[in-house]
Amino acid sequence: MAQQVEIPQRESTIPDEPGRANPFTNAQTQFDIAAEVLGLDPNMRRVLRECKRQLIVTFPVLMDDHAIQMFTGFRVQHNIDRGPAKGGIRYHQDVNIDEVKALAMWMTWKCAVVGIPYGGAKGGVIVDPKKLSRNELENLTRRYTSEISILIGPDRDIPAPDVNTNAQIMAWMMDTISMQVGHSVPAVVTGKPLGIGGSEGRAEATGRGCMLTTLAALKHLGIHPKDATVAVQGVGNVGYTTAKLLQQAGCKVVAVSDSNGACYNEDGIQLDEVVREKELTGRLRQKVCTMLTNAELLELPVTVLVPAALENQIHRGNAHRVKAKVVCEGANGPTTPEADLILAEKGVFLIPDILANAGGVTVSYFEWVQDLQEFFWDESDINQRLERIMMKAFDNVLRVSQEKKVNMRVAAYVVAVDRVAQATTIRGIYP
Ligand code: NAD
Repeated sequence: MAQQVEIPQRESTIPDEPGRANPFTNAQTQFDIAAEVLGLDPNMRRVLRECKRQLIVTFPVLMDDHAIQMFTGFRVQHNIDRGPAKGGIRYHQDVNIDEVKALAMWMTWKCAVVGIPYGGAKGGVIVDPKKLSRNELENLTRRYTSEISILIGPDRDIPAPDVNTNAQIMAWMMDTISMQVGHSVPAVVTGKPLGIGGSEGRAEATGRGCMLTTLAALKHLGIHPKDATVAVQGVGNVGYTTAKLLQQAGCKVVAVSDSNGACYNEDGIQLDEVVREKELTGRLRQKVCTMLTNAELLELPVTVLVPAALENQIHRGNAHRVKAKVVCEGANGPTTPEADLILAEKGVFLIPDILANAGGVTVSYFEWVQDLQEFFWDESDINQRLERIMMKAFDNVLRVSQEKKVNMRVAAYVVAVDRVAQATTIRGIYP
């Protein structure tokens, strides 16, 4: 069904394997493929395949033993032609500038594909937050926020949670900016706790969007949710909610994982038991389950695979062993461009990250609008609006995929890149 699009030759020889492939090279390759299908003007290609701003900050943090430790962090804005920059903050020991650049570019396309008025940004700090005390985590967050405050603001660039950051960290960020200006600035970050301007439905929004797009894909393929089995890699914010909501919709969740490994039971996982066990012992486990590696989870004979952890998990080394009929990319960039082609050849229906996990930024947009209006909506309003936006975007991407005979990733990029290119063209190149 899908048209084969050749992957443009790359200068890089970085191997296409987890931990090795360069996410920004992958992001540029995905852009190049869409630009080719769109017939995008070469001048516009040169503009859109680069990031507009890259800030690198190295800053001191006072640790509990009174020693000062230096940390490095980033904030990158890819494009702001459709509105203020928007994107999460990641705390992880492997964060690097190319990863943050890729994540910023993906944010631009994500906001465009669901039609919300933002550009793309991302931030990160090189740190394993599990090794910090709560006090050290707060110190690090406040100092990093202060360092990037030259870029962020409600009408300039609005951070949100990502891997290893959460509502409490957003509260510290919001408070730091508010202390600098002397009044509360809730709209400077999203994903905040409800009591300080957070939104109903935000915590579950990304997983809810994954659930909605997965159910739409199953419907398109004529598969009833009750006949679908699901494996989820990474039961964090996104993965846990996706698994829980798909289970509520009638699917059988048979495997979930965290960074230590996976727990598998072909008769179905008791999600709450597994997560409670993780809280008590640090390990995902239930009474009857087989322990698998994360690599084995990706190759399970399931209907739906949800990679919801990190980049480059499905690569040319394992893509041909993926048995799922539907891959819903909860994570950003979990599939490399080489793996995309292999999955497409196998007839896998892939819901690309920029569409599948766009529910998070969509409800972040609702949170920002509510903060600016100082008027808050109830959860059913939020969920209904989210569903309308996600389904409109899914249907639009599916239509473009069928019309242009390209896979869903290329179709989503075609929709998004076209919208951003139009905005950049209408505004013109300054001066
Ligand atoms: P999180 O920190 O809440 O959860 C991450 C999960 O992945 C954890 O369960 C962790 O144990 C697991 N994990 C980490 N390394 C792993 C590895 N090597 N193998 C397997 N599992 C591993 O993070 P999150 O917010 O759920 O984000 C997950 C993904 O979703 C990221 O790619 C993020 O960019 C993307 N995303 C998040 C949001 C959001 O709203 N939080 C929105 C859009 C996209």
